[in-house]
Order: sequence, then C-alpha cells, then structure tokens
Amino acid sequence: MALLYLSSPERAAVWRPIFAREMPEMAFVAGEAAVEDPAAIRYLAAWTLPPDVFLRYPGVELVVSVGAGVDQLDLPAIPAHVAVARTVTPSIGAMMRDYTVLGVLAMHRELPYYLARQREAVWKGRPVVLAGRRRVGVMGLGELGRACIEALRGFGFPLAGWSRSARRIPGVETFSGKDGLAPFLARTDILVCLLPLTEETSGILDAGLFAALPEGACLVHAGRGRQLDHAALLAALDTGQLGGAFLDVTEPEPLPAGHPFWTHPKIVLTPHVATVTDFEEGALSAVETLRGHREGGAIRGLVDRSRGY
Ligand code: NDP
Repeated sequence: MALLYLSSPERAAVWRPIFAREMPEMAFVAGEAAVEDPAAIRYLAAWTLPPDVFLRYPGVELVVSVGAGVDQLDLPAIPAHVAVARTVTPSIGAMMRDYTVLGVLAMHRELPYYLARQREAVWKGRPVVLAGRRRVGVMGLGELGRACIEALRGFGFPLAGWSRSARRIPGVETFSGKDGLAPFLARTDILVCLLPLTEETSGILDAGLFAALPEGACLVHAGRGRQLDHAALLAALDTGQLGGAFLDVTEPEPLPAGHPFWTHPKIVLTPHVATVTDFEEGALSAVETLRGHREGGAIRGLVDRSRGY
C-alpha cells in the first residue's frame, strides 16, 4: 500500500520521515518516476493532479490536497468513488486570524489614507470611528471564518457572519443562504471574505454586492482571487461606495505588472501570504486523514464533493 506524493521536493523531505515514523506500513513514493507498482497506489497527495492520473493508478481511494483549499483540483474529473480531503492544521487558522485582524484594523483605522499622507509628508488626521460603531461581517463561517471572528471579539466591533447553512455563534449575528446575504451586507461596514471558491462563490464580490454594502464600507479579501470582480472593485473605490480594500488574493496570481491594484491609494495588497502551510503540520494532517480513511473513522479535512468544499 502506497501514497504517491506529487508536490515539491522540499515538502517531500519533511513528509518522508514523518510518514516513516507515523505510518511505517505506508510506502511513501515521491513522484511518478519512483513508482514501482502502480497497483499499490491507494492515496495521492498533491496540489494539482497530472492528466489521466486515475487511469495510471486505478486503485486510488483518496486524494489529499496539500493546501487548505481544493478549488485548484478539477473535482468533476476525479472518479466519483475517490474521496477528496484538504489540509487542516492549527497554524492555518492562527495565521488567518492574524491576517484578518491586521486587515480589519487597517481598514478600521484608515491605514491606506495615512500611508498616502505619510508619502506626501502631510500631518493630517481624521476623526476616529469607535469600534462599537464599526460593524464587521465575515463571509464564510468555517474553520477560518470562525477563527477570525473569535480573534475580533476583543475589539468591540459588532460582529456578524454569513454562511451557506444556518450557524449559531454566541454574541454574533448570523445570516445564511441567498436570502440572508442582503441583510448581512446592509449591516456590514468592514466585510471579510473567507469563502471557498465554488460555482456559487465565483465572482460573488461584484458590483451588486458592493452596492448592497453601506456607503464607504471596506473589504478584506483572503478567500480566492476568482471571487473578486476587479473592475467592480475599482469602480466602487472610485465612487466612494467602498472606502478601501485589503487584498491577499487576486486572479491571476501573481498580479500582472501595471495592474491598477499595485498603486491604488485605497488598496493594500499582499501576495497570497495570509497563510502558508507548514510542511510538518501538513504531513501530520495528511497522516490523520489517511488514518481516518483506513480505520473507517472521521476523515480529517474531508471535502463534500457535491458542495465543492
Ligand atoms: P470551510 O470549508 O471550513 O468553511 C467554508 C465556509 O464558507 C462555511 O461556513 C460555508 O458554509 C461557507 N460557504 C461556502 N459556500 C457558501 C455559499 N455559497 N454561501 C455562503 N456561505 C458559503 O473553509 P475554511 O474556513 O477552512 O477556508 C475558507 C477558504 O479560505 C478556503 O476555501 C480558501 O479559499 C481560503 N483560504 C485562503 C488562504 C490564503 O492564504 N489567502 C489560506 C487558506 C484558505 P457552511 O458553514 O454552511 O458550510
């Protein structure tokens, strides 16, 4: 029985000894060139999959994404009987907590405005809005959305969240589904997007959504680039419908030279670094996933293929 690993050699150097220690019964095969017995391959670990991989290894039962999402995988091309799981580590939540707090506070305390004034050597303040009057809304109440909400509790922002199914979080106003979106947006001054990329969420941050926010609202986006309509964001920033944006993800990535986001005075941009999966934690997450699958227990990070996340 073997795991076929299809990712970077640097990550493999960390994964191999962890699998040898934690799952000595599982052969760790790094790269297709190292496969001796294709029939022995039961598991794949990869970010993206090469074409026809399931024809070459018909015994595969589960694919582990080495990242926190699975939107980079062509899910319909994976045979229906093959399970799909993503990497879930404690540090991903902790890093996203840091990043979203950074973004929300930057928008709350108008960091883009003050960075621009600093560049002009202009000493000019604006009134400070009290946190209790700045309503924060988080789209996506999964592992990361909940970590973000918990981290924001101490600041005094009125908090709300939006998810696909109804969720209850003490002290947080929750909304769900398509019907819940408009009332959620109407009460949100800083919108944090932590949604997975699916057919339903692709392009969700568009002109209509920005128009449904209160005038001057801000966006913190650390979901996926394809959720954001760049032209709509620029238009909303230019009219003042949006006051600022703090972005970690774009489409494409890297953002091309000359793109208006690079120099826009109301945008703070980071190069998809909100979280970076630690190789050791990723290996341990994969071990847990494979163990759950082999022992018939809960499968860590299991994706609901019908929902796409
Ligand atoms: P989860 O799967 O744990 O949670 C997803 C949440 O989004 C759930 O609350 C889900 O609702 C909600 N959701 C999904 N589809 C819809 C929809 N159509 N309408 C409303 N709500 C919806 O994911 P995580 O929290 O772990 O991660 C979220 C995303 O963050 C990842 O998929 C990835 O895209 C992004 N990410 C970005 C990183 C970065 O570095 N920028 C790093 C890691 C992740 P419900 O609760 O009803 O299921």
